[in-house]
This record gives sequence, structure tokens and C-alpha cells, in this order.
Amino acid sequence: LEEQLRHAQKMEAIGTLAGGIAHDFNNLLTVIAGYSSLIQFNSQESEVASMAAEILGSVERAAEMTRSLLAFSRKQEVHLMPVDLNHLVEGLHKSLARLITEDIELTVELSSVPLIVSSDKGQLEQVLFNLVVNARDAMPSGGRLSIRTELSQLNHALITVADSGVGMSREVQDRVFEPFFTTKEMGVGTGLGLSTCYGIIKKHNGMIGLESEPGAGTTFSIYLPLSEELPAEGYAGGSPQWATGN
Ligand code: ADP
Repeated sequence: LEEQLRHAQKMEAIGTLAGGIAHDFNNLLTVIAGYSSLIQFNSQESEVASMAAEILGSVERAAEMTRSLLAFSRKQEVHLMPVDLNHLVEGLHKSLARLITEDIELTVELSSVPLIVSSDKGQLEQVLFNLVVNARDAMPSGGRLSIRTELSQLNHALITVADSGVGMSREVQDRVFEPFFTTKEMGVGTGLGLSTCYGIIKKHNGMIGLESEPGAGTTFSIYLPLSEELPAEGYAGGSPQWATGN
């Protein structure tokens, strides 16, 4: 427990730091982007214009990184609405399948009961997206990827994303949620995927954790509190409990 507390405090401190830097950084990037566009469009020399375009390209990448950092820190808001997790995963199935390679076998298992959680749909989709990309990267010569949803204890929904990939050492496991921590090559990984997931899940009042064994694979578990409300779009799953208005 002490260990968990220390970890939470460390993440909190990193979050405050990262959020502050990202915020200031964004303002600077706006200035750089503004003047670079001016140079690009007003320059008579094509060489200068193309250099300005290079700067703009880098600014866009930097802006993407600061957006991820803001998602990790407290500074980006979430808009929570009741969403059925099973619908969300089902709707994402095709896009997730497109992310992985052919030699990865994807299975999706949904709980038989609806799992309504208060969620920012777009951000939760981002979390699944990041986990699936990491799972793919962990299985360069193929393997199995499973996504499951289930009802968990204490009124929580549980989503697990499990792969049969390379796994992680204890040292790596301890640091994966830190922003900019990556074991991937320069230019491949930014180290912002899991820190973004961590920030988003925290803002959903949920928890994210992992179990991993080097050479065997990794399972990420996300717990989200169930919502009392129903999704606005109307629930099409035909739960008898709700059909009777309970
Ligand atoms: P990035 O993917 O850009 O490196 P992440 O924050 O998403 O950044 O992940 C951080 C690190 O965690 C990865 O570089 C990798 O070492 C490790 N990791 C994440 N997911 C997995 C996984 N499913 N299997 C093995 N290692 C993983």
C-alpha cells in the first residue's frame, strides 16, 4: 500500500509539472506557428518558404506532444456522459482490427450485461487505441490479442486488454505510466501513450493497472465505476431490468 501511495504521489507530481510545461509550451508554439506561416506565405524565395514549412511541420508534432501531456495532466477536461462500454468496444472493433497486423489474432468478448459508465467517449476510445497499438508493437512476429469487458466487484466495469507479446521487466513495469518513458527507438515511441491512458482513466475516477511477464505477455486492466444514469441515445440491448423501468 505504501508503495502504491508513493507511486500515486510521484504521478501526481509529474502530472503537475507536465501540465505546467505543456501549457506554457503551447503558447510558445502558437507564436512560432504564427510567424512561420507569415514567413511561408510572404517569402519571395521558395527555399525560405520551404524551410518555414519544415518549421510548421515540427510545430505540429510538438503540438501533438503537448496535447498528449495535457491529457495526462489535469489540464484537459473530460466531458462525462453515460455510455455503454460494450457498445463502445463493439463500435471500435473494426478500427482496432485495422491497427494490428495479420498475424495477430484478435478476440473481443463482451459481458452479457450492459456496462454503463460515465465516460468521455472519444477519450476512452483513445485509451483502447493506445493499448492496442502497444500490444501490436509487443508482438512483432504475431500472437494473440484479447479485449474483454466484464462486470467487476463494487459496481465497477472491468476492461482487459491482453497480449501474448514480449512482456516487461519489473523495472519497465514500474515506469510505463510516466510521460516520455519509452523503450522504443527514437522517432517510433514518444512515451506518451500510457501516460495519456493513465490521465484519462484517472479523470474517469477509474484505475488502470497491469500484469506482465517477460516472454509471456501483458494484461492491462481498467476499472471504471458504473453509472446510475442511462445513455442518452436510448439503450437498445433489451435489458429486462430496464424494460420494466426499474
Ligand atoms: P511508447 O509506446 O511511445 O513507447 P507508451 O507510454 O505507450 O509509449 O509505452 C511505454 C513503454 O511501455 C513502451 O515503450 C514499452 O516498453 C512498454 N509497453 C507498453 N505496452 C506494452 C505491452 N503491451 N507489452 C510490452 N511492453 C509494453
